[in-house]
Amino acid sequence: MASIKRICSKCHEEFLIIEQEKAFLDEKGLPEPKECPTCRQNRRLSLRSEQKLYSSTCDKCGKDIIIAFKPPEDQKVFCKECYLKYFETFDPVKPSED
Ligand SMILES: [Zn+2]
Ligand SMILES: [Zn+2]
Repeated sequence: MASIKRICSKCHEEFLIIEQEKAFLDEKGLPEPKECPTCRQNRRLSLRSEQKLYSSTCDKCGKDIIIAFKPPEDQKVFCKECYLKYFETFDPVKPSED
């Protein structure tokens, strides 16, 4: 089986493009990968982790928190614990027991 040897443009390690992969790329008209599978995977992972994260501070306990959305200026943000505690205490939809 003829595999093509390439040098990764990123880590300069040798890697192989196997025949099936090459055939697949040709069929789709795609260029040969310039990076080894490891670097390609790392790039994919790092792209995913580039999802915007915002750091904020819990309004209740002052703990630094990371949130996946931009906190609205007029809205308080809580850490998970305070958030849960808040809703346990002030849950507006909780039916009253009496
Ligand atoms: Zn590499
Ligand atoms: Zn908190």
